[in-house]
Amino acid sequence: MDRLPWHDAQWARLRSPEGRARVPHALLLRGPAGTGKRRFAQRLARALLCHSPIEEEACGECRSCHLAAGGLHPDLHVIEPPEDRKQILIDQIRDLIGRVVLTASGGSRRAVVIAPAEAMNRPAANTLLKTLEEPPGDTVFLLVSDRSGLLPATIRSRCQALTFPCPPTPQAIAWLEEQAGSEATAAELLALAHGAPLHAVALGERRALRGSLSDDLESLMRGAADPVSVAERWAGHGLDETSWWLTGLVQDAIRLRAAPGRGGSDTGQLRSLAARASLAGWFRLLDACLAIRSALSRQFNLNERLALEDLALACGRSACDDSSTP
Ligand SMILES: [Zn+2]
Repeated sequence: MDRLPWHDAQWARLRSPEGRARVPHALLLRGPAGTGKRRFAQRLARALLCHSPIEEEACGECRSCHLAAGGLHPDLHVIEPPEDRKQILIDQIRDLIGRVVLTASGGSRRAVVIAPAEAMNRPAANTLLKTLEEPPGDTVFLLVSDRSGLLPATIRSRCQALTFPCPPTPQAIAWLEEQAGSEATAAELLALAHGAPLHAVALGERRALRGSLSDDLESLMRGAADPVSVAERWAGHGLDETSWWLTGLVQDAIRLRAAPGRGGSDTGQLRSLAARASLAGWFRLLDACLAIRSALSRQFNLNERLALEDLALACGRSACDDSSTP
C-alpha cells in the first residue's frame, strides 16, 4: 500500500512540531469516494501504533508494523459491515468497545478504523457516541466516510474533520498513467470517475473484465471453449459481477445486430462478436441473463456455480442453430 502522492497536505496537517503524526482522539476522514481515505486511515493507524515511526509514517520494520501488515495487531481494530450486510450493527460496536476498554489498562495505544462510518445504523452510532465522548485510555478513532452528511450531527461534532478532495487533474493523471499504462487511458478513466483516482482504477479493472468476458463469449460461441472451465473462471468474479457485465455485452451486441451501421467505442470487437448469432439467438441469451439478474435481485438461494455453468452453456447454444439467418 504505497503512500498516495495527493495525500501530502493531509499528512502535513497531522504532523506535530517534532515531526511525528499527532492525531485527536476522533478524526473524521471525509471526501468523495475513490480518493484513498481508507488507505490513509490504515497507514495512519499503523503509524500511530509503530514503535519507531519515521517522521509521521510507520517504519514498516518493527514488531507492531509486522503484526499490522499481517492483519494481526491486537490494538488495531477495523470495523466494516459484515460481508452479507450493508450496515455496521450495534453488536459490532459493543464488541469493539468491550475489547478496547478491556485492553485500556495495558497502557498501549489503540487505533480503530470505522469504514464506511455512515454504514453504522442508528443504534450502533448512538453506542459509539458514548465512547467518543469519553474515549478509553489512549484510543484513536478514525472514521472514514464518503457521505459524512449522513452521519448523525452528534458524531460529526465530536470528530475533527480531515477533508480529502479529488487531486489536481495533472497529478491524478501522472499517478494513473503508472497504473493504467497510457496517458490517454488514464485521462479517459479519470474523467469517467469524476476525478477520483482510485475509482478510475476500479473502472479500468472492470473494463478489463468486460474485455475478457467478450473473449470468453466469442470462444463459447465458436465452440472453442469448455463451458465448465469457463464457468469456473467466472466464479472468480462472482455471479453478480459476471452476469451484470454479460447482460450489458449481450444488449450491446443486440443493438449492433439490429442497427449494424451504428458506431461505438469498442465496435470492432463487438461487431465480430455480434455476427456470431442471429438476433433471435441473442435475445435467447439475453433472456437467460435477465432470468439470473432477476433471481439475484429477489435474493433467491442460487447455486452460483450451477448458474454460471448454465449461463456458459446458454452462450454456446445461442450461436449454434440459426446464426446464418440475421
Ligand atoms: Zn514500525
